[in-house]
Amino acid sequence: MLDILTYVKEKDPNEREFHQAVSEVFESVKPVIDQNPEYAQLKILERLVEPERVILFRVPWVDDRGEVQVNRGYRVEMNSCIGPYKGGLRFHPSVNLGILKFLAFEQVFKNALTTLPMGGGKGGSDFDPKGKSDGEVMRFCQSFMLELFRHIGHNTDVPAGDIGVGAREIGFLFGMYKKIRNEFTGVLTGKSINWGGSLIRPEATGYGSVYFAVEMLKTRNLSIKDKTCIVSGSGNVAQFTAEKLIELGAKVVTLSDSSGCIYDEKGIDVQKLAYVKTLKNIRRGRIKEYVDKYPEAVYTPIDPIADFNPLWNYQGDCAFPSATQNEINAKDAQNLVNNKVFLVSEGANMPTTPDGVDIFLDNDILYGPGKAANAGGVSVSGLEMSQNSSRLNWTREEVDRRLKLIMENIHKTCMDASTEYGAPGNYLKGANIAGFLKVVNAMIDQGVV
Ligand code: NDP
Repeated sequence: MLDILTYVKEKDPNEREFHQAVSEVFESVKPVIDQNPEYAQLKILERLVEPERVILFRVPWVDDRGEVQVNRGYRVEMNSCIGPYKGGLRFHPSVNLGILKFLAFEQVFKNALTTLPMGGGKGGSDFDPKGKSDGEVMRFCQSFMLELFRHIGHNTDVPAGDIGVGAREIGFLFGMYKKIRNEFTGVLTGKSINWGGSLIRPEATGYGSVYFAVEMLKTRNLSIKDKTCIVSGSGNVAQFTAEKLIELGAKVVTLSDSSGCIYDEKGIDVQKLAYVKTLKNIRRGRIKEYVDKYPEAVYTPIDPIADFNPLWNYQGDCAFPSATQNEINAKDAQNLVNNKVFLVSEGANMPTTPDGVDIFLDNDILYGPGKAANAGGVSVSGLEMSQNSSRLNWTREEVDRRLKLIMENIHKTCMDASTEYGAPGNYLKGANIAGFLKVVNAMIDQGVV
């Protein structure tokens, strides 16, 4: 068999996160590849790791002091064999081509798992919205769209939000797209409910991650009620993960941002969470301020170069990493295991390093990998596209019902595939195999293109 990892590393030696994502998927699907020698002849693996198209562009804009700033914009259109490219935009200083290729690659298989007709893509910029005024963010988004518009469309490529891209940014991006194209179509998802968005879309990734956890717990006759939960991040995914957990009777004791984490032993309740939403979404403050408001909680700074993250060393039953990639390393994973955490549901994309994942699997942790556990966001984006096409608005209950059903189906699909390939309950293997088979079969049907 082709050593695909060596092939990818030789081609693009600096794309560390992309190598990690490729290695994880192809290791899981090795039995499928071994059973299907025609994949080699058709160069399926080589085609899967090469984006169909990469767009890289200059994004010039003027800051509040009148100075010209220049950022770099990207869109990675990875694979469209199941539907239009679909995947978020990330605005964060760490963004580079390797990170976006990893996210786009993951997205291809995740979208396949949802059963909705969506290909995979991802994009963004090294622009940092933190500390910028609304006017600066708007001017940046407008300049970004002035180039991106020619590459996207409701039947071609439909971006959404991700880190640093929430309702505010989607609004500015959509406004510019509509003006240039002179058309009102569902070219972006995550739109505001007043102008084409779907109810439950902001909640969907976090709620979906909890629904996936509930399904995993059912396999051991357990419920989420009364479980102590460690949640990382305090952005979109973290907020709605916490919200659903609280609603289902669990106790959420932590939240974080890139500077530090808070631990609230009594639990973050609805009222405290409302404070966090205002703090993060409106005042755009730091999670440290939580302890000014609730002095019974403890704040601990996170040192990005330390060999472990204090957040993952709190006592709990279930962990919901909901911030960013590689936020749980082997030491963190071991700390979670030592503290008797028995479930990990990944709201973030690839938040656990490969050696961390091995520790979870070796210790029989209920481990929901991101491409399954966080697929609720893109699923409701798919539902938003359907509503836009048919010019209908479904009720909150209807969208939530469909989201829950999709998460239950994804869980079953992963479980069935893991069982068929001799590793029952290994959701990582199950998710990778099921997503891979769907994509590869479609590629084969469509010929060498
Ligand atoms: P947000 O921008 O809303 O929130 C991100 C949170 O993670 C913030 O609290 C942020 O802290 C923290 N964070 C970001 N980068 C780092 C870092 N390098 N180290 C530590 N903390 C960090 O993003 P989302 O909530 O939308 O996304 C979170 C994760 O979920 C990402 O992995 C994303 O790809 C994934 N995801 C999101 C989906 C969605 O629908 N939004 C769908 C599927 C997956 P700070 O403010 O300090 O930067």
